[in-house]
Amino acid sequence: MDCIFCKIVSGEIPSARVFEDDNVIAFLDIRPIAKGHTLIVPKKHLTDLRDADYETLCHLMGAVKKIAPSVMTAVGADGFNLGGNNGPASGQEVMHLHLHIIPRHFNDGLPRWPHNAYAEGEREGLAEKIRAVL
Ligand code: AMP
Ligand code: ZN
Repeated sequence: MDCIFCKIVSGEIPSARVFEDDNVIAFLDIRPIAKGHTLIVPKKHLTDLRDADYETLCHLMGAVKKIAPSVMTAVGADGFNLGGNNGPASGQEVMHLHLHIIPRHFNDGLPRWPHNAYAEGEREGLAEKIRAVL
């Protein structure tokens, strides 16, 4: 399969690896948002979170819990963002499921998420619509 992360998993393409076990690999993002920006990738090829089985999600989050504090220590971070793009509309470029650990420092200048507003009753109606299709 012509997937860059599968090639990193197989070793065909080199990576700055920070962790690996039977189920996941973690390596530094080649174009980091901040120094230490780390990608957590299941070894199994899945397109995004919608494809993921429960075990894979557990392996991913277990790896985040293990790795994030070490990434923070290594770069002296004050916190981190955990991110995941799902689908091209979200900005996903590599169509192999992965999570981003992005180290954060106080006053690092990175933009915050914008906030929006609902019209009267719109929020409740939308929650009902989501519950109906769960
Ligand atoms: P996303 O937009 O969520 O699909 O993020 C994909 C990420 O993979 C981007 O932040 C890229 O910089 C990163 N990336 C692409 N190719 C490589 C590579 N060979 N090694 C490390 N990171 C990569
Ligand atoms: Zn893949």
